[in-house]
Amino acid sequence: MICLGIESTAHTLGLGVIDGKKVVENISATFTTTTGGMIPSKVSDFLVENLPILLAKLKTPLNKVDLIAFSQGPGIGHSLRIGQFLASALSFKLKIPIIGVNHCVAHLEIGKLVTKAKDPVLLYTSGANTQVIAFEGGQYRIFGETLDMGVGNFLDAFSRELGLGFPGGPKLEKLALKSKNYIKLPYVVKGMDVSFGGLLTNLKSKLKSEKKEDLAFSVQETVFAMLMEVSERAMAHCGKSELLLGGGVACNSRLQQMAGIMCKERKAKLFVPEKQFLVDNGAMIAWLGLVQYNAGKRMKASNIDIRPDWRTDQA
Ligand code: AMP
Ligand code: MG
Repeated sequence: MICLGIESTAHTLGLGVIDGKKVVENISATFTTTTGGMIPSKVSDFLVENLPILLAKLKTPLNKVDLIAFSQGPGIGHSLRIGQFLASALSFKLKIPIIGVNHCVAHLEIGKLVTKAKDPVLLYTSGANTQVIAFEGGQYRIFGETLDMGVGNFLDAFSRELGLGFPGGPKLEKLALKSKNYIKLPYVVKGMDVSFGGLLTNLKSKLKSEKKEDLAFSVQETVFAMLMEVSERAMAHCGKSELLLGGGVACNSRLQQMAGIMCKERKAKLFVPEKQFLVDNGAMIAWLGLVQYNAGKRMKASNIDIRPDWRTDQA
């Protein structure tokens, strides 16, 4: 069975094709800026413009597709609507079933497919989302999460203060390599959750007095350590010995390195999917759609709606 997956929760439009358990195609277009951040209406214009371009690049003939899957939530309403529109139109036109999937769960399931992790705790660190997720007691559960912004949005917001443009995470990573000077910053772990808002305010107050590269280095050390603490505690709590990384921030080498150290210390195994499956992508949507369809899930294009606030533990 061939499934076409459509990803459009934020600034990436992705199309992915899965045939059985094989990723056949995974193409995307991602919005960027040189200054400032992302404005939802500008992002949705970008997604709409790239829709016909990506469809034209797709090698799989649409008449070979058996199932359409799309990211139903969580995400930015403007962006989600575009994926839903395309999915519904294709479902009607091709007379094939449609299925809406939870974006966060898709990160977990594609990670398992491509790394062969069996029962991992997922540290999902993206722009808008920061969650520690695992399948436990018959459902997906969030063991820890951000209390305010996602770690990616936090890194992007701080990068914007430094004039680095969007997305800032990769630029901040490069800048951090120029320093080894750790400046003490607020370390905010509350139970199993993390918070970045206060840290952002604190960083803004240090912009004039400290060097940019020292701040970049210190911010990575601090927030990645926070993420390791809650991930490790979730692994201990669930008795799981696999950690899977997901989300765009997981492309960061220092984050991967810290996760490797933590896993080694507790004799656990770290799984890092290749970049195309870490960032938002269509293949993960296609794969989860197929898994759900094969499990008997059915939806109707005529009454399917987006779910911007859909939580992982409701999926
Ligand atoms: P996603 O929402 O999963 O597509 O991820 C996008 C987020 O990942 C943005 O906030 C980026 O700044 C962030 N990101 C991408 N690459 C890196 C990196 N190497 N280091 C830190 N953050 C990154
Ligand atoms: Mg994502």
